[in-house]
Amino acid sequence: MQTALIVGAGGQDGRLLAQFLGRRGYQMTGWVRREPSGQLPCPWTVMDLLEINSVERELQTLRPQEIYYLAAYHHSTEESVDEDSSEHLRQSFEVHVGGLLNVLQAIKRHSPDTKLFYAASSHVFGDCAQDWADETTPFRPNSAYGISKLAGIRCCDLIRTQDRIFASTGILFHHDSPWRKASFVSQRIVRGALQARRDPGIKIAIGNLDVRIDWGYAPDYVDAMSRIVQLNEPGDFVVSSGELHSVREFVEAAFEEVGLDWREHVQIEQRLLKRVSQPLKGNSAKLRSRTGWSPTVRFRELVGKLVWETEKLNAIT
Ligand code: NDP
Repeated sequence: MQTALIVGAGGQDGRLLAQFLGRRGYQMTGWVRREPSGQLPCPWTVMDLLEINSVERELQTLRPQEIYYLAAYHHSTEESVDEDSSEHLRQSFEVHVGGLLNVLQAIKRHSPDTKLFYAASSHVFGDCAQDWADETTPFRPNSAYGISKLAGIRCCDLIRTQDRIFASTGILFHHDSPWRKASFVSQRIVRGALQARRDPGIKIAIGNLDVRIDWGYAPDYVDAMSRIVQLNEPGDFVVSSGELHSVREFVEAAFEEVGLDWREHVQIEQRLLKRVSQPLKGNSAKLRSRTGWSPTVRFRELVGKLVWETEKLNAIT
């Protein structure tokens, strides 16, 4: 039986990956930072990733064949942290680099045949000079999140070169499911559309309808993670749909699904306007050619799935 450890098992991708691997008969353990709300699809343990002795002890016992390092710090969803950017940097580095280094060290010492997947992000491209990116595009991160994820990529690269440990990274573009935290724009729109059926007065505040995003369906992205780990050689892989669609298109599609006119339920709020970077789409040709992966769900179908799967999950009526 194959074995896997999912670090950050309580998040969107952690839950979907556990379902995906569960269907393939894996024996799994999930590490979470606090007791999850609701059930997880795999057994879980609360783990402090910065506590090297605990990480080593646990990995010495588990010695899983595969580790998926998905833990992430998003300052926009953390209520306890103010706008201090040095605090965001510190917390981002702790989760995206400090915890990763502890896991890599434990692999090196106790389980050198374990294959690790690290979830990086398209934010490593930051102020990209072109409108698409692949693994050869220069990294120019401009946020605590992007800078720390780039450091994580570099750590994986170093350890696979120096120590011959299998440490691969996925440079993941935006992907959604009903498990997305409610504060993310896609979930705010989808939940707003569902609620508007019962409450015609509902308004969703959006900062900018013209922002264009490379959106994907999260179950496809956990499939990509698993395929990357099954390869014989480690590496870095862009995971993306390769298509850009605007927030306006998303809103239109979500309200069309529920038979309503989006213009009656969306208001533009300047306070939500963030620094808009150049729209960026990913070129995942390397992943597609090495693993045969391709997204199974395209944009319009994605929005429909998000609406109805969110309704099912949250029983929004
Ligand atoms: P989520 O935010 O849903 O999940 C991240 C999980 O990490 C959360 O469950 C969170 O716990 C957990 N976590 C945070 N800090 C720690 C810690 N110190 N120790 C253990 N766990 C911790 O993200 P996704 O599932 O959407 O994303 C998975 C990975 O992919 C992340 O690394 C993310 O950065 C990356 N990614 C995702 C993209 C997307 O569009 N979804 C795009 C690009 C990259 P808690 O639930 O308690 O907050």
